[in-house]
Amino acid sequence: MKAAVWHGHKDLRIEDVKEPVPGKGQVKIRVAWAGICGTDRHEYEGPNFIPVEKPHRLTGRTAPLIIGHEFAGEIAEVGEGVEGWKAGDRVTANGSLTCGTCEACRSGRYNICSKLGFLGVGDDGAFAEYVIVNADRLFAIPDGVSDHDAVLAEPLACGIHATHLLGDIRGKDVVVLGPGIIGLSAFYGAKYAGAGRILVSGIGDYRRELIESEGGTYVDASAEDLAAKVSDWSGGNLADVVYECIGIEQTMDQAIRFTKPGGKIMVMGVFGRKPVVDMNTLQEAERAIYTSQAHVGEIAEALEYLRDGKIDASRLVTREVTLDTLVEDGFEYLIGHGPENIKVLIRIGG
Ligand SMILES: [Zn+2]
Ligand SMILES: [Zn+2]
Repeated sequence: MKAAVWHGHKDLRIEDVKEPVPGKGQVKIRVAWAGICGTDRHEYEGPNFIPVEKPHRLTGRTAPLIIGHEFAGEIAEVGEGVEGWKAGDRVTANGSLTCGTCEACRSGRYNICSKLGFLGVGDDGAFAEYVIVNADRLFAIPDGVSDHDAVLAEPLACGIHATHLLGDIRGKDVVVLGPGIIGLSAFYGAKYAGAGRILVSGIGDYRRELIESEGGTYVDASAEDLAAKVSDWSGGNLADVVYECIGIEQTMDQAIRFTKPGGKIMVMGVFGRKPVVDMNTLQEAERAIYTSQAHVGEIAEALEYLRDGKIDASRLVTREVTLDTLVEDGFEYLIGHGPENIKVLIRIGG
């Protein structure tokens, strides 16, 4: 089968590899569409999480391996002991790889498993004609949601999960720093959890129309004084909740300064380096930092939002490529055109 195999930074090869066979409790999925995630870009450009020398803590794998974890398709074959799924079922999946025995796994919080791994990072992933997934990580795609649109459920689940961790945010004023797909997942997560006003900031005007048409306020942080904007927008009260969805020191600092006394900061960005954190500003008003890691069952909720038209996937997919054009038209293109793109999809069997 054809697959995108990671050998090293900027060394992603479209190769013909052996078709995988599902083991016990696993299914083999014929991939229709897949999505390029920010983490895939990190793997492409570096720094990477794909193990090169030291084998992965859970799977024992090292590169080369097939990347990708956002996908949708149909079950081609079920392995031994799989119940409730059959060939032909349309599915998407949570790509986490977990031990199943640690305290977090046993309590259902497998997204924080002590040996956590991901498809496409710790084992062969979904940028291929077929992918193997554990049956307990599958989600049925509802009628009315295409395979193309269902790929969005995985990234959207991140913001829904983060929002669940914050507790009741009904009526709260929310700021989202970062208008990429994770920032948008936070926006939709907050919106449908009943948040009050939501302000999203980013560099450039690429998302203004989307955010404003969804009832939010958009600020181009390169053109406007963001701190003054947040203050005005909130009547000087600042935000109840700030989602940090970029992962740099500057936005972490803004998140702290834009949060009102007793408010909450939700960190979703992935930091390339350790930020200096202003502990005194946090502590003087009992501002709390929360963090979020992927998701557990929230793909089901994301699929419902797509089915019910609460989220229009067509507005989030900004480019489509194939496996053959993935490197040049996908990854290389994204390096020069990051901000205007939300989600790039790969048509595989769809
Ligand atoms: Zn992802
Ligand atoms: Zn575990």
